[in-house]
Amino acid sequence: MGFGGNYRVRERGQFDPASKEPYRISRSKIDLFLECPRCFYLDQRLGIGRPDMPAFSLNNAVDTLLKKEFDVYRVKGNLHPLLKSYGLSAVPLKHKDLEKWREARRAGIEYLHKGTNLSVRGGIDDIWEGKDGKLIIVDYKATSKKSELTLYDSYKRQVEVYQWLFRKNDFPVSDTAYFVYVNASTDAEAFDAKLEFKVELIPYTGDTSWIEPALHNIKKCLLSEEIPPKGECDYCPYREAAGKALLARNEGSKKKTGRSTRARKKDDSYEKTPSLF
Ligand code: SF4
Repeated sequence: MGFGGNYRVRERGQFDPASKEPYRISRSKIDLFLECPRCFYLDQRLGIGRPDMPAFSLNNAVDTLLKKEFDVYRVKGNLHPLLKSYGLSAVPLKHKDLEKWREARRAGIEYLHKGTNLSVRGGIDDIWEGKDGKLIIVDYKATSKKSELTLYDSYKRQVEVYQWLFRKNDFPVSDTAYFVYVNASTDAEAFDAKLEFKVELIPYTGDTSWIEPALHNIKKCLLSEEIPPKGECDYCPYREAAGKALLARNEGSKKKTGRSTRARKKDDSYEKTPSLF
């Protein structure tokens, strides 16, 4: 269902409580649930997802270039100078499924969690292999800031889900994941058609113990007929205020007499607008 612009309510692919088929859930939807169960429910049960954001093209460019760079060392089987400078003895993993695991939208690494019948999927940036044969989850991040780089909770959860997915697929996985964090400097005198980056390697010890309880909570939420309560962001009050104002305006207009048929039609469309409040 469209509302003008490009926004569409999805008519397929939502969770169906009557279905016995596994339900596929991405790493980012797990994060959405943890951020706000109501937004998650609107998306996954009712097909009302958040509007798409414009792609962060510069971040994507950094990701692509880092992948290419580490792929060179993958082919040679050599230690990357960044890892060497941090005293980390690991090489980019060679594996036939690597490209599939990197495809977040179409493939990724997947595991069917039998307790919930949720099939969890995520797309990785890279994997290195330590001397002990364990896989090291790697995520690339790009920013531009003068202060210390931040490992947000969502970043931590992201690599923890990947660690969990690889373990569930019977791979030995190191508890330590790494962020290759690139920080664009704004100290240059002029732009001069180039950006300079400082690259840091940030280790993080993952804890995956929250994942299975979260999957059970997600399943409970998906099966429920009750829409979870509002979270704390400002958009729900904004939408509620807008919905109430439109309804009040509509009610007021209906009481007036002598309106044109065209105006009536326009007002009637407000009644047909589904409201979640
Ligand atoms: S508070 Fe409302 S708009 Fe904000 S994340 Fe939750 S459901 Fe979405």
